Amino acid sequence: MGAPKTKQKILLTGGAGFIGSHVAEAYLEAGHAVAIVDNLSTGKKENLPAQAEFYRADIGDAAAMEKIFQKERPTVVNHHAAQIDVRFSVARPVEDARTNILGGVQLLELSRKYGVRKWIFAATGGALYGETPDQGAAEESPIHPASPYGVSKFCLEQYIGFYARSYGLQYTILRYANVYGPRQIPESEAGVVAIFIGSLLNGKTPTIYGDGGQRRDFVYVEDVARANLMALTSNGNAVVNIGTGRGTTIQQLLELLQQELAAGLKPRYAPKRPGEIFQSIVDNSRARNILGWQPQTALAAGLKKTIAWQKTMDNG
Ligand code: NAD
Repeated sequence: MGAPKTKQKILLTGGAGFIGSHVAEAYLEAGHAVAIVDNLSTGKKENLPAQAEFYRADIGDAAAMEKIFQKERPTVVNHHAAQIDVRFSVARPVEDARTNILGGVQLLELSRKYGVRKWIFAATGGALYGETPDQGAAEESPIHPASPYGVSKFCLEQYIGFYARSYGLQYTILRYANVYGPRQIPESEAGVVAIFIGSLLNGKTPTIYGDGGQRRDFVYVEDVARANLMALTSNGNAVVNIGTGRGTTIQQLLELLQQELAAGLKPRYAPKRPGEIFQSIVDNSRARNILGWQPQTALAAGLKKTIAWQKTMDNG
């Protein structure tokens, strides 16, 4: 692809991770310059695109981050680094808040100091609204996070709003549903996809917690990366859900994977997890209206690509 109209210098946190690495590829492909900051706690060096600058650093390390801002002078910060494990956040809420709130505020302070124009933030829709209606929760729905993770991600949204009102920072906040695809890790919000594929490929009985009727909104990672690209040029500050607006039950997900892998293994049913949300779907109308974004990858097609990737990992 040729040079974009306005080439951006993007500081991308969490770019060695699952979603962040796809975002980095989309930005580089569009001709932007990308510098990645990642502490490799869950991210992997193999995920880093060769053309991106890479800094191994913790977003909570004030001195290291300041040096990076000084050197890179980014026009845009895209913030994907986070403590992403919902269960860990319940067990260790202080550590979750340290990364997801304090780490984020630190980046906002540096962004103010070094004149960053725009922020794009990977927020959560899947862990924010609590139980949602069949048509999905819209952005103005009441916020009912069921975990400290949901609270900490929402809290940083509020800080971003403050920096916009007080210092003129522009922003697009992307509230993802359950993102799946190549490079995903079992701990993530759509970890069930990786876990089921892993079980079926290795001939292990998959476990369903509860009756499998729980519904989730599975959105493919390349569609999510495209939303991050569109957010670069969108005008006006906005909070936008990024999901398909459609629910898939855990039982249906397993059946789709079984068909794809011609695996006949029957699942084991374990007791429902306490506090688990039954239905989590996001309404994506605003993304269509504001970003002109819509999901393009059907679940079956996205799962095919995810399986192909997971097979190469199991063999490699
Ligand atoms: P991931 O763990 O693959 O990516 C997170 C990255 O951040 C990793 O590379 C990790 O090494 C890095 N990181 C973590 N703490 C850091 C720190 N203190 N300093 C520097 N780097 C650090 O997970 P992911 O699923 O790709 O999630 C990316 C973002 O998207 C997160 O902000 C997450 O909250 C958000 N999100 C993900 C989903 C989903 O379904 N996967 C849904 C909603 C929101």
